[in-house]
Amino acid sequence: MPVNLLDFDAEGLTAWFAQQGEKPFRARQVLRWVHHFGESDFNAMTDIAKSLREKLIATATVSPPPTISDKLSDDGTRKFLFDVGNRNAVETVFIPEDDRGTLCISSQAGCALECAFCSTGRQGFNRNLSTSEIIGQLWQANRALGRDPASGNCGERIISNVVLMGMGEPLANFDNLLPALRLMLDDNAYGLSRRRVTVSTSGIVPAMARLAAACPVALAVSLHAPTDGLRDKLVPINRKYPLAELMAACQRYLVHAPRDFITFEYVMLDGVNDSDADAHALLHLVRDVPCKFNLIPFNPFPASGFHRSPAERVRRFASILINGGIVTTTRKTRGEDIDAACGQLAGKVQDKSKRTLRAAGVVRATGTATASADTSAGVELHL
Ligand code: SAH
Ligand code: SF4
Repeated sequence: MPVNLLDFDAEGLTAWFAQQGEKPFRARQVLRWVHHFGESDFNAMTDIAKSLREKLIATATVSPPPTISDKLSDDGTRKFLFDVGNRNAVETVFIPEDDRGTLCISSQAGCALECAFCSTGRQGFNRNLSTSEIIGQLWQANRALGRDPASGNCGERIISNVVLMGMGEPLANFDNLLPALRLMLDDNAYGLSRRRVTVSTSGIVPAMARLAAACPVALAVSLHAPTDGLRDKLVPINRKYPLAELMAACQRYLVHAPRDFITFEYVMLDGVNDSDADAHALLHLVRDVPCKFNLIPFNPFPASGFHRSPAERVRRFASILINGGIVTTTRKTRGEDIDAACGQLAGKVQDKSKRTLRAAGVVRATGTATASADTSAGVELHL
């Protein structure tokens, strides 16, 4: 089996090169070809000795997940669907704005955390993505989008920011995420600043500390409720890491963070978490955490059971937070016409969690499936 070089960050590639009897600077050269120039053909790496190129052709590949589809929304948002094997596919979304281009990437095929209002969570979980599947989304999108010719010379990269806000919980896939994050920051690869790479988490407290120690990038925390009672229902991981622990973890993260605030994401669910009292309770909850709020109008999907808060309610909720001294923005919904908005990413996941069977009443919550039900596992949404 050839080794996929997209699975290595600089350190990993250097170690692999050493095993092949090759010098560290060769690893750096190849890293630059692969990520900086987006090259997958070893023969095109012209400043690499022919003998090494031949060795690489025999032992290695540069294999991102293949593109299944690439759709453009009316508002310029672009959604890619990538094949990650065994009938699983994940989604990646590019969101162009005046002053930046943000790529939203996935970290898992499905998600095991079952947040009540999330389409990815509803469809079950298959597996963690490998490092090559995570960084491969950026590699592929960079190739598809190219560089901006307006910015002179050979142009600047169109993708200026990366957010881990696609399918999956990035901090539940820490070991594969870390080399991908390091590549995003590496000057020989994508050269993004730590402030322009954002990990979004539903609040896996111990992994937040690991991230702070290993690779502190900007952090967004999906809050969605001001009290444990409500958050237990909306974001079930809260039962394991309740709000007091989460707030303390946010404070500790800020000691290392590249930005001096945490971004709290808050999906606005009509009549569920959007009252004036909820906003006041939030002000109390985050009183010791330097933060900004990003309110996300709920993006509906079939049979979600939730509704989007009316625009006036969102404005009023935001004004309470702002009057309480917190910078608050409301996320513009993008890419709705191609199901590319937050929480609508469903890709295609063969559910191994039996959740979809449970929801259909085929298995009991204890998870024992009948043989016939087991073979029918798997959901296909939005395809
Ligand atoms: N698992 C991570 C990152 C992926 S979700 C996390 O939960 O943070 C990215 C953001 O989209 C999260 O804030 C998530 O709560 C939000 N989201 C999920 N479903 C949504 C929906 N239907 N409408 C709007 N936002 C949603
Ligand atoms: Fe998973 Fe995030 Fe969706 Fe929750 S909101 S189910 S953590 S992807």
